[in-house]
Amino acid sequence: MRSTYYKPQNGTNCTYTKLKASGQTTAMPQKPQKSAQTAHYIELGSYQYWPVLVPRGIRLYTYEQIPVFLRENPYITDGYRAYLPSRLCIKSLFILSNETVNIWSHLLGFLLFFFIGVYNMATVLPAIGASKEDYVIYSIGLFCFQLCMLCSVGYHLFCCHRSEKTSRRWLALDYAGVSIGILGCYVPGVFYTFYCNNYWRQVYLVTVLAMILAVFFAQIHPHYLGKQWKQMRSLSFCLVAGFGLIPTLHWICLTGGFSSELVQAFVPRILGMYFIAALALIFYVSKVPERYFPGQLNYLGSSHQVWHLLLVLMFYWWHQSSCFIMAYRHSEPCPNAPHHD
Ligand SMILES: [Zn+2]
Repeated sequence: MRSTYYKPQNGTNCTYTKLKASGQTTAMPQKPQKSAQTAHYIELGSYQYWPVLVPRGIRLYTYEQIPVFLRENPYITDGYRAYLPSRLCIKSLFILSNETVNIWSHLLGFLLFFFIGVYNMATVLPAIGASKEDYVIYSIGLFCFQLCMLCSVGYHLFCCHRSEKTSRRWLALDYAGVSIGILGCYVPGVFYTFYCNNYWRQVYLVTVLAMILAVFFAQIHPHYLGKQWKQMRSLSFCLVAGFGLIPTLHWICLTGGFSSELVQAFVPRILGMYFIAALALIFYVSKVPERYFPGQLNYLGSSHQVWHLLLVLMFYWWHQSSCFIMAYRHSEPCPNAPHHD
């Protein structure tokens, strides 16, 4: 049960912040204000008095002031939003807090994949002679990426909600979103690598779907929301993503080994994706670089921001790779079925 809350006092010129923690009540008067916004000074890098405007009712807290369920990273010492109702969570989209880059990186990521989808479906896919099947597979991949981005935006926007339950639900959705993103990588990947082998294509698509659905429901189940499941959660993502190496090796064998032109062209793309994924995970888990500069990377340059950017880069990389192999399948017939489209 949480006993801490924040309530701005309306109708007066003064805004009071009421923090009721461990039975103790303190009132902190702030500067008198008339407008809907108030100036707030934040520490940005080594400069301590960077002015930002925050809407009335929102203030930024230090690590010690936020509720326990928000304390994930002690190296991010300030700039936290907390105790907010939904309306102010949404409003906080336009203020500079330690979540601003996290929110906007994936909001722009969502827009990127949305517009890439619209553009490619109107120009690139018709040009390579895409079939209805191609449109479906292409759309599934991009839709999964967009959903992953939106779940992440939702979490980073609403994690500061005054209700711990709401915050945790968004966190669960954020994790579930990652499994959807992984699905978005698998579907076009398996579909086009095993394009000429319908049996194995179905086997791997069904296996991957079953595995990701299991992980997805485990992520959104309230039972697994506790911190004690955090490592299991990361491990399940690693296993689901790492599983992809099995169909990759199998596909290399089926396609004729490394002497195959397609294998030579596509394997570096697969390895590139795993490299970006591994790099992203290292930043996510290690909390580098803020670990070495505690308090200096609160707003810009923290590990979670790098993780977000690498996730967008990885999805973009894989999208381009999927387009490459889709185009290849339309230019080269399958070896065993020369009449195949
Ligand atoms: Zn995130």
